[in-house]
Amino acid sequence: MTLPLSPGAAKALVLLRGAGYEAWIVGGCVRDALLGLAPKDYDLATSALPEQTKAVFAGRPVVETGLRHGTVTVLLEGEPLEITTYRVDGAYSDARHPDEVTFTRSLREDAARRDFTINAMAYAPGAGLQDFFGGREDLAQGLIRAVGTAERRFREDALRILRALRFAAVLDFTLEGETDRAARACAPLLAGVSAERVSGELSKLLCGKAAGRVLREYPDVLGVVLPEILPMVGLDHRNAYHCYDVWTHTAVAVDHVPPELPLRLAMLLHDIGKPDTFSLGEDGQGHFYGHPRRSVELAEKILTRLRFPRRTRERVLTLVRYHDAVLEETPQRVRRWLNKLGPEAFFDLLAIQWGDASAQAPAYCTRLDHVRRLETMARQELAQAPCLTVRDLAVGGEDLLARGYRGPAVGEALRALLDQVLAGALPNEKTPLLQWLARRDAEKREKTELPKAPPRP
Ligand code: ATP
Ligand code: MG
Repeated sequence: MTLPLSPGAAKALVLLRGAGYEAWIVGGCVRDALLGLAPKDYDLATSALPEQTKAVFAGRPVVETGLRHGTVTVLLEGEPLEITTYRVDGAYSDARHPDEVTFTRSLREDAARRDFTINAMAYAPGAGLQDFFGGREDLAQGLIRAVGTAERRFREDALRILRALRFAAVLDFTLEGETDRAARACAPLLAGVSAERVSGELSKLLCGKAAGRVLREYPDVLGVVLPEILPMVGLDHRNAYHCYDVWTHTAVAVDHVPPELPLRLAMLLHDIGKPDTFSLGEDGQGHFYGHPRRSVELAEKILTRLRFPRRTRERVLTLVRYHDAVLEETPQRVRRWLNKLGPEAFFDLLAIQWGDASAQAPAYCTRLDHVRRLETMARQELAQAPCLTVRDLAVGGEDLLARGYRGPAVGEALRALLDQVLAGALPNEKTPLLQWLARRDAEKREKTELPKAPPRP
């Protein structure tokens, strides 16, 4: 059996093996290559000790990325390659990181410390595939199966529970029975895993092609790190717009936006304020007045707690805030929104409204046509090189200074002009803009000068 290798990985194997060591590509790159996917990067495992690895690659750029864990990163053919000495992990006293690692001479022991059978295979050209735990079969069956006893492995490092869900979402696989049972049973241990590790796996999970299914199947596990989702599970909308409970609606909506993190996070969190805002109308219909605002509050708490970068957080919160906004199909209103959010966020908002509508009762999917038309309209507006911000105006601050405007009056005048242009009331041309402004301010002066105070006696 032969698998395609990158030039850098192939060369590293040749150099290490040529120096008399065992060397393999391992983990995710073997899995991906067997699936016919291009590996994102290559990890190598070797019998060489870190100092020996460094000696093999002497004279080349080498970074001691994790010497304590036996990892050296080598730059070969422009590729960074992580080369790790065969190791077994010591005790995990905190369900987070091994207290110590021990180097070993055995590839099998190195494979046994890895999380899932599909991630525990090794390969080298000529030597073939090393598959000690049936990873290839599980790959063919679409199964995530822990190496060894699932419960013990999850107790060693609870992040593996979230990793199992991540691989299920990314590969569209299912958890093997015992692994599934242990994942649910050990889920409370996830509370002890650092926010950064959780958000890293959660992000990949959300961008997976089967994210919606995994969300639907594992609210109990995800609820350990996102307790705010739990009241959504099974919450009936009790209105005609919806055919799913709030959590199922959320999961279906996630699948209907492109796999970009801000969009997927916004979809996950858009209705998280619904449980707190539910009310039953006299007509027997369920309402969720003000839920976007409550969703923003909860989403902000969650994204901060999970240490998402500020920029991601802000993008997500904007989308959650306006996910339910009524967008009118007129060029003026579309220009207003383009001005308010900027084109990128406005198109993101349309994607969110699309995802939201796709997960509603089929009778309300007419909203989809509405979103499509808005998108076309926004593109047409942008194609006309429209004036969307004060900076795009044909009149600048210097024009106003020349006409005697000073200080805050300059900004006010520019904003008033932009307002007229966005409304379509004025063309974005210097003369009409300045004429309008002169007229407006003359009228203003008249109004303030009219009721003159009577002369003092
Ligand atoms: P990706 O394609 O996302 O990089 P990957 O399988 O390469 O997926 P990494 O997080 O890069 O995942 O880890 C590389 C390899 O290290 C895994 O394939 C697995 O063998 C092992 N591994 C990573 N994290 C753990 C863990 N927490 N417990 C046990 N083994 C792990
Ligand atoms: Mg990797």
